[in-house]
Amino acid sequence: MSEHNESSHFIEQIIQADLDAGFPAEKLRFRFPPEPNGYLHIGHVKAIALNFNLGKKYNAPVNLRFDDTNPAKESIEYVNAIKKDIRWLGYEWAEERYASDYFDQLFAWAKELISKGLAYVDPQDSEEMAAQKGTPTREGTNSPFRDTSSEQNLVLFNEMQAGKHAEGSMALRAKIDMSSPNMLLRDPVIYRILNKDHHRTGSTWCIYPMYDWTHGESDYIEGISHSLCTLEFKPHRDLYEWFLSNLSPLEHHYPKQREFARLNLSYTVTSKRKLAALIENKTVSGWDDPRMPTISGLRRRGYTPQALRNFVETAGVSKRENVIDVSLLEYCVREDLNSKASRVMAVLDPIKLVITNYPEGATEMLEAVNNPEDESKGSRLIPFSKNLFIERDDFKEEANRKYFRLTLGKEVRLKSAYIIEGQSVVKDSAGNIIEIHCTYDSDSKSGSGSEASQRKVKGTIHWVSQDTSISAQVNVYDRLFSDESPDQHKDQDFTEFINRDSLGQLTAKVEPSLVNLLPGTNVQFQRLGYFVTDINSTSDNLIFNKTAGLRDTWSKKSN
Ligand code: ATP
Ligand code: MG
Repeated sequence: MSEHNESSHFIEQIIQADLDAGFPAEKLRFRFPPEPNGYLHIGHVKAIALNFNLGKKYNAPVNLRFDDTNPAKESIEYVNAIKKDIRWLGYEWAEERYASDYFDQLFAWAKELISKGLAYVDPQDSEEMAAQKGTPTREGTNSPFRDTSSEQNLVLFNEMQAGKHAEGSMALRAKIDMSSPNMLLRDPVIYRILNKDHHRTGSTWCIYPMYDWTHGESDYIEGISHSLCTLEFKPHRDLYEWFLSNLSPLEHHYPKQREFARLNLSYTVTSKRKLAALIENKTVSGWDDPRMPTISGLRRRGYTPQALRNFVETAGVSKRENVIDVSLLEYCVREDLNSKASRVMAVLDPIKLVITNYPEGATEMLEAVNNPEDESKGSRLIPFSKNLFIERDDFKEEANRKYFRLTLGKEVRLKSAYIIEGQSVVKDSAGNIIEIHCTYDSDSKSGSGSEASQRKVKGTIHWVSQDTSISAQVNVYDRLFSDESPDQHKDQDFTEFINRDSLGQLTAKVEPSLVNLLPGTNVQFQRLGYFVTDINSTSDNLIFNKTAGLRDTWSKKSN
């Protein structure tokens, strides 16, 4: 028991305390409540994992509830994308629900509040209402319409619902306390007129309930026991409880709202509105651009569900806001791909290498291990010949003793192949090296067991054979923002910190075994990093996206 408590986070401790106090375990129930106004991002993974992991731990249902009360911003495209992303992460919800399923009930409850004298229709415009709100240190003043009779309010509210009043001309407000220290309790609007069709209810409604009025009531209808949300909703808790306690008689337990810290990631923004702005201003190509911190972007970038789950679990569930370094995210994907991704050869910036003493026209097939971390992945054959490509920066004409790659007069090993020695270079008229000539030691074949093959050389470089190599487009990425916390600046908009140079495109030469890779396949380009075939990659037009390098170079940069 004590061991269990030590390893549990504060939300689990709250639940445990409720169970200890007699709350029936079979009544535990959770929900993940996205608004379908954009694609899910890495922050949502934390909320998803939190709720679904609680469901698993307590064997309790977890609903997926779309908080769809603002038809101006929501769509079915987002609903479908959200479902796809949650399933991809590996979670399955008990029931798919929509706040809009409850519009009739919410309307009836609103009328109940009006009858009880706890809500009124206010025909003032939003500026007038705002002026009466007061400030945190100054009390508000009552609306002149606060004491309209319940009968009159019911007439007006029914007229609002019937479409008799113009958008913005009036609103239904809860009658709570214009002097409350909690500004949210100063007669909040609970219904507004909005002449917009809804993606589910069509043109049935022209009034829509506000978030606060909808959320707790939806939780109640679904029998949610613990309604978990991010810290910015803490001040809303009073309102959440006010609504529930003023609807009566409620038949079962009230849900309990509790708050945890949002996940913030360095060098990015996690807000659907801000991510939408990046699409709008064409910084990225869409929600699933591999540079986006959306689940769909990370997937296209080559992130795995396991990596994202490990990441949010490592980041933990806490009460205090903090910024998690993006290098932790990369660490998690590297960890996962290290055991999963096949090692292959690709040359991103090719230069020709000729082995002068290798027989002209000959090709031999060399065995290469697919994944040294996983024997069951086996090996494959890669063609080797006289004419190869190597990485331009794996060669230097003149180099000091610390240079372990290819240079003239020194030996290196060609990965899974032979030991070679640099001999000479061919230059164009401008003095650029266009070809490197070397000799090879035919006894030094990798894995042959010969004495020559066991000779120690300082470096190993990767290569592909020219004739059989395939061209591929390779996308490499830098951070999308040049600032660690782009949206935390008081006087500057986050868009001022956009890194305009976040996408690089290269034409690489890759080994022929990659020609039939299905889109979304993770590989490790040896010595270069993890890459994934893009969703638009085909055998005629191979496209790879860089997932992450082999080592952490970013966290060093920032220090
Ligand atoms: P955004 O500002 O990106 O639109 P949101 O909070 O409005 O986010 P919702 O769709 O309403 O997005 O969020 C669904 C759930 O995910 C909520 O419970 C919310 O608290 C949670 N959530 C959103 N962002 C984060 C985050 N960065 N870290 C943890 N949980 C989050
Ligand atoms: Mg929101």
